[in-house]
Amino acid sequence: MTDCLFCRIVRREIPSTIVYEDDRILAFNDIDPKAPTHVLLVPKRHIATLNDLTADDDGLIGEIVRRASAIARERGLSAGGFRTVFNTNRDAGQTVFHIHLHLLGGRGLMWPPG
Ligand code: 5GP
Ligand code: ZN
Repeated sequence: MTDCLFCRIVRREIPSTIVYEDDRILAFNDIDPKAPTHVLLVPKRHIATLNDLTADDDGLIGEIVRRASAIARERGLSAGGFRTVFNTNRDAGQTVFHIHLHLLGGRGLMWPPG
């Protein structure tokens, strides 16, 4: 997916503020943060939506979720709490079709979301 925005961020063709990287995952600050911490965690491999996951991706998704929790812990958010969200397709407002886990924290978060 050469023209995918987040693939381009993974390849460093578009700059971002990277907060974590390993062989399979990149985490970077959201360009339009909705909370004091707003990090996006993406697989380096292009996957468009959660609808495209297979059982082979179970480990990868587990790593992404656990990494979000680790970043929250490093920022002192574990006890107070934080939110993790994957938006999928139109009704959830997905705008970038490369799966990304939003990690939001550092303020009280309303529920239910809009
Ligand atoms: P979605 O609405 O698809 O769940 O979330 C996409 C997110 O990507 C939005 O929160 C938006 O602010 C963020 N975003 C869009 N373009 C860029 C960009 O070029 N760089 C970064 N770091 N974030 C972006
Ligand atoms: Zn992509």
